[in-house]
Amino acid sequence: AKKMGRNTVCFFDPAIQEVALLRATLEAELRQALVRAEFSLYYQPQVNSSGAVIGVEALVRWQNPQRGTVSPAEFIPLAEDTGLILPLGRWVLEEACALLVGFAAAPATRELHVAVNVSALQFRQTNFVAELLAILENSGANPTRLKLELTESLLVEDIEVAIEKVIALKQHGVALSLDDFGTGYSSLMYLKRLPLDQLKIDQSFVQNLLHDSRDLAIVNTIITLGTTMGVGVIAEGVETAAQLDLLINIGCTLFQGYYFSRPLPDQQLHEYLQRHVLA
Ligand code: C2E
Ligand code: CA
Ligand code: CA
Ligand code: CA
Repeated sequence: AKKMGRNTVCFFDPAIQEVALLRATLEAELRQALVRAEFSLYYQPQVNSSGAVIGVEALVRWQNPQRGTVSPAEFIPLAEDTGLILPLGRWVLEEACALLVGFAAAPATRELHVAVNVSALQFRQTNFVAELLAILENSGANPTRLKLELTESLLVEDIEVAIEKVIALKQHGVALSLDDFGTGYSSLMYLKRLPLDQLKIDQSFVQNLLHDSRDLAIVNTIITLGTTMGVGVIAEGVETAAQLDLLINIGCTLFQGYYFSRPLPDQQLHEYLQRHVLA
């Protein structure tokens, strides 16, 4: 693209122009999606080795009248680039807290936690901790039942500031899970310095666990590491009974994946909990 003066950009490659146009259209629609209430949260159960549900992970969905359901893998990066992840992330936290308040109202679901994914841009806001605490306070949700899923990439930019935030969250009782563990800038320094409650083994390691001895070695090591350090370990992307059996055999105690349930909309989650909470 060549600049031709103020606000005028001339594209010479029609393919590039098309990509830019598609992106601009998607971006405009994404901006309207919040106002039009096109986002919804799905919840995927997390279970222990007896099959009892111990919590859920909130996963955002975008239902656009024209596009149908757009995958978060597609729109979360765009929402990050445009800053839209900030109001969207706030909405996700508010919804998650509302679910927690609902859980707290019934004895059978009182102990369940809700895990929420936090994006890098969101976490790097100076007022992230203050805003989160305000959301918790306004909702009346119990901070110890909220679990934030952080990725290693979100911690790298300014490690000292990141550690301060994580410690502040922990002091207010919020639980912390390190998501996609092993795929990022994995540094054992994070494990040493962060008051984490949980490591989440990335699904890419779980996928070929039965057929790839390297994946098995990595998963084994993460479980040993977590167990030795007193940090919980959860395996994500568990799809088969064989994967589950192997994971149980090597000491994993918490699981999430299609084998148990796909992410479910609110109503279906409640039906699922009716059947599985007291398993
Ligand atoms: P993630 O946090 O690693 O979430 C796990 C993804 O794996 C989810 O995809 C989930 O539906 C999928 N999954 C769960 N069990 C299985 C399984 O057994 N097999 C396979 N193949 N996949 C499984 P989803 O919902 O499409 O989300 C994709 C990513 O988008 C998430 O990855 C997360 O990084 C991001 N995301 C989703 N919701 C939010 C959100 O509210 N805020 C932010 N910042 N990111 C979000
Ligand atoms: Ca996650
Ligand atoms: Ca993951
Ligand atoms: Ca991921």
